[in-house]
Amino acid sequence: MDDERLMQAIAAREDDLVALTQALIRIPTLNPPGRNYLEICESLAERLRGSGFAVELVRAHGAPADSDKYPRWNLVARREGGRPGECVHFNSHHDVVETGHGWTVDPFGGELRDGRVYGRGACDMKGGLAASIIAAEAFLEVHPDFAGAIEISATADEESGGYGGVAYLAELGHFDPERVQHVIIPEPLNKDRICLGHRGVWWAEIETHGRIAHGSMPFLGDCAVRHMGAVLAEMEDTLFPLLAGKRTAMPVVPDGARASTLNINAIHGGEPVQEEGYTGLPAPCVPDRCRITIDRRFLIEEDIAEVKAEITAMMERVRARRPGFVYEVRDLFEVQPTMTERDAPVVTTVAAAIERVLHRQADFVVSPGTYDQKHIDRIGRLKNCIAYGPGILDLAHQPDEWVGVQDMLDSAKVMALTLAELLVRNGAAQS
Ligand SMILES: [Zn+2]
Repeated sequence: MDDERLMQAIAAREDDLVALTQALIRIPTLNPPGRNYLEICESLAERLRGSGFAVELVRAHGAPADSDKYPRWNLVARREGGRPGECVHFNSHHDVVETGHGWTVDPFGGELRDGRVYGRGACDMKGGLAASIIAAEAFLEVHPDFAGAIEISATADEESGGYGGVAYLAELGHFDPERVQHVIIPEPLNKDRICLGHRGVWWAEIETHGRIAHGSMPFLGDCAVRHMGAVLAEMEDTLFPLLAGKRTAMPVVPDGARASTLNINAIHGGEPVQEEGYTGLPAPCVPDRCRITIDRRFLIEEDIAEVKAEITAMMERVRARRPGFVYEVRDLFEVQPTMTERDAPVVTTVAAAIERVLHRQADFVVSPGTYDQKHIDRIGRLKNCIAYGPGILDLAHQPDEWVGVQDMLDSAKVMALTLAELLVRNGAAQS
């Protein structure tokens, strides 16, 4: 009965949902460099204060890229229920990536056409943020006397690692399991899919060393690029086949990412690239340094120490064949894989709500790349966390990005039913 009223309360807010999504898209929160973060937080603050939330704006002072010109602002809003209970937190990032070329609509116009709202950030993830706000507001109308608390956050810099956003808030204790029990991140994973986590990441630089000499007498030097060539050949022969053979039980989508992968992000050796407009010729030198940047994505079944040891073993195989081979491997960045258990409370509750709204079973997926769940898991120590939200993942970061109005309505219904289950029915069971 109440659930029926909840569904109706969401349906009645369709125009509001569209208008809110459009208003968010029209604030171009481009990252980098991090534009209009304060503006979007203030606009959300006004909205959420009007719905009875206590709102806090938090600047990530000292975080990477935080400056007076581009301050890293975050919003945390909390609405307490009438009785003690658990807290459900919706976390969305408010930053968007550059627009790129190929748009046929204004990327910051928020145009509504044929049931879709267009714009940069429409699906990733201002549509999800708007859906969570509408879900919470509809829930408050139907269940004013709920137990526990609802939190909504809009955070900075997810697209550039989340250090001025969720990581900063987690350091301040905002995702402490004492304070928050359930986290839903409305990233665009499609409205019938629950994302349990992501693979791990290790970025490193591999450098080969040589000795500079005149290019007309290469035998007097030692070519670092040829050494790197040997490394790349060894990679093709032994490492890529090894990685392709490592399959995971994690339900990663797309299927190609259900194995270990390695990308070579960049390669550079020899004299630096000259400034544009330089019209001279290169100089004849034997390169004494060559460097690649690798991006290794690893599985929950793998240990990061083994992942690193594989690279060292590969480099040692090359060294055994090449006299005078000298190399260095430098760590740049690492993130552990994370996967919430399928029987975690937030997972089973959202899965049941998907079944009720969409009349089909939820799919469980894992993301090939990381997102802010890493900080909630590692810094916040909170394991009961998923990504669930409207929008089609493949459209993220593309030209003519859009989010479907029906998808936003459906996922808002799923979110509102989840609140009813965790803060009304469970709340009643506990009291
Ligand atoms: Zn996103």
